[in-house]
Amino acid sequence: MHSITLADGTPIPTLGQGTWRLGERGADRRAEAATLRLGLDLGLTLIDTAEMYGDGGSEEVVAEAIAGRRDEVFLVSKAYPQNASRTRLPEACERSLRRLKTDVLDLYLLHWRGNVPLPETAEAMEALKKQGKIRHWGVSNLDVADLEELGPYLNTCAANQVLYNLEARGVEFDLLPFCLNQMMPVMAYSPLGQGGALLRHPVLARVAKRQGATPAQVALAWTLRNPNVISIPKAADERHLRENLGARMMVLTPEDLLELDSAFAPPSRKQSLEML
Ligand code: NDP
Repeated sequence: MHSITLADGTPIPTLGQGTWRLGERGADRRAEAATLRLGLDLGLTLIDTAEMYGDGGSEEVVAEAIAGRRDEVFLVSKAYPQNASRTRLPEACERSLRRLKTDVLDLYLLHWRGNVPLPETAEAMEALKKQGKIRHWGVSNLDVADLEELGPYLNTCAANQVLYNLEARGVEFDLLPFCLNQMMPVMAYSPLGQGGALLRHPVLARVAKRQGATPAQVALAWTLRNPNVISIPKAADERHLRENLGARMMVLTPEDLLELDSAFAPPSRKQSLEML
């Protein structure tokens, strides 16, 4: 399994499983958990969830999927910004641990920034680390200026999860180089553009045909071409899951990359951070 290392040397898989929209009302939770479990069987051992997803339902589905095999999993969850204060973060973390039926998270992220000062959140994260509730902490949807506000805590922030796909390349201008310089992996969310128009783009189709692959595989391989990026596609459909695995071994050629650049231009100046 391909992995990169966090600043402290911990290996982290570069292709994982997203879980937004799992565990929502009316969902077939058993089927969703079975697909996640199949992902684990196939080596997709990073699972990304959040207290927000399905109002806790996603974490419950993840609990079902990882029951009896917690040690295989690199488990990521996220806290709402309104829960990111000194007093509320420990409570939110406890609730997530309870829903996930585990006693420790591998990575706990601030989902996006709100009114709590970032250093206060970082301090609360460090306290959770000391208590053994989380192994690492990080952030999501933070741009360079936000990260700089972390001050002395910047060096202990393990990862930044941001929107990154062929249609959303703004982070390449400054955020990706900044994170690389910090040895802070970037987790690309919505790498498939949420399965929308991106996957029907004719240029993606052309590159995929030349590779003997599918547009989704090319879209994922494109995010993974950057050695500091972890990609977390969500696939509730087992066929999608199996297909996405094919991206791990794919090497895009210089010709492929040029063609993709011509259709999805890289940024030539600073752009404000896009988020969903
Ligand atoms: P993705 O880009 O991962 O797209 C998911 C959609 O693509 C689903 O509808 C899925 O269908 C479909 N799909 C998956 N594989 C294929 C395939 N091979 N061919 C065609 N369609 C496919 O979008 P997400 O927004 O879900 O992002 C991924 C994860 O990132 C989230 O699940 C979440 O964990 C995280 N995230 C984090 C955010 C943040 O603010 N930190 C914001 C958004 C996402 P199906 O499910 O039917 O298989």
